[in-house]
Amino acid sequence: MCNFLKSQLVHLFLVISFFRLVAQPAESVKEPVSKDNPKWVIVIHGGAGGPVKGSLSASQEEAYLNMLSQALESGSAILRSGGTSLEAVTAAVCFMEDCPLFNAGKGAVLDEEGKAELDAAVMDGRTLKAGAVGGVRTVKNPVLAAVAVMEKTKHVMLAGPGADRFAREQGLKIVPASYFIVTDRYEKWKQTKPGADAVHGTVGAVALDQSGNLAAATSTGGMSRKMVGRLGDTPIIGAGTYANNKTCAVSCTGHGEFFIRNVVAYDLSALMEYKGLPLAEAAEYIVNDKLKSQKADGGLIAVDKEGNIAMPFNSNAMFRGYKTSDDRSLVAIFK
Ligand code: ASP
Repeated sequence: MCNFLKSQLVHLFLVISFFRLVAQPAESVKEPVSKDNPKWVIVIHGGAGGPVKGSLSASQEEAYLNMLSQALESGSAILRSGGTSLEAVTAAVCFMEDCPLFNAGKGAVLDEEGKAELDAAVMDGRTLKAGAVGGVRTVKNPVLAAVAVMEKTKHVMLAGPGADRFAREQGLKIVPASYFIVTDRYEKWKQTKPGADAVHGTVGAVALDQSGNLAAATSTGGMSRKMVGRLGDTPIIGAGTYANNKTCAVSCTGHGEFFIRNVVAYDLSALMEYKGLPLAEAAEYIVNDKLKSQKADGGLIAVDKEGNIAMPFNSNAMFRGYKTSDDRSLVAIFK
């Protein structure tokens, strides 16, 4: 074929392709979710009850939003390539544990003795298997220790020195206690008197994967100046963390004692299972009615088996975000 004819054919092909593209109505560009284009969703939080609007500088806000985006991306990359919801929530939480801005892992708040004691949990909605650690002091990523408890033991929760020893035996990364203490937190800790309003926060993630399985993970340093040995809601399955393929996956943040007494994460799942409430309605009722009436500040993130998302909070702020297979995404701090 002569070169002239060849170039005319290429030209014709390009013109036809262009018109086929622009002729498509906007809606049909977004492919419907089907078995060939499976749905996934990830939702994360970096704690509730934090700053009042206007108290963060523009650069601080930007730093938080940037870290939330990166945490979301670390989980999304796994879901996008067909990984499990459990792997995705673990990766997102690990990322936030390593980030000194959040109250989990490095940067955790300090207890009454000025030390970090960390809690974490995971739950697999497909099998209802769960793992948790409480009060660990040397495990770099407590969420990985929670996964190891779930996968390698016949128990659900290990606490204190036994949990640290187990993590070490599992080959998880061990760090000196000083690793978790960042200067900012330590200065704040020195300035707050025992008995003052506790600073808190937590990190968490929930996800739906391409196979339709749900999972949840949560990790925290708890409440500042807490008593040595205090465990919050985070590692208690059903209180701060819960996942069930029949209903939803939930990760909570807020004043832990209230979340334990109200068994918040399971309450949400139970309202859906037994009362047939939609996710958003059940979550809104728990956070902005039930907990609020008890003056319990905090919030939660949740995703249901259809991929619906809820992120209610009754505090000033909740660091939060989501990302979905159909390209919806958000990172936000305030209402
Ligand atoms: N719920 C956590 C705890 O009480 C703290 C928080 O999420 O703010 O340990």
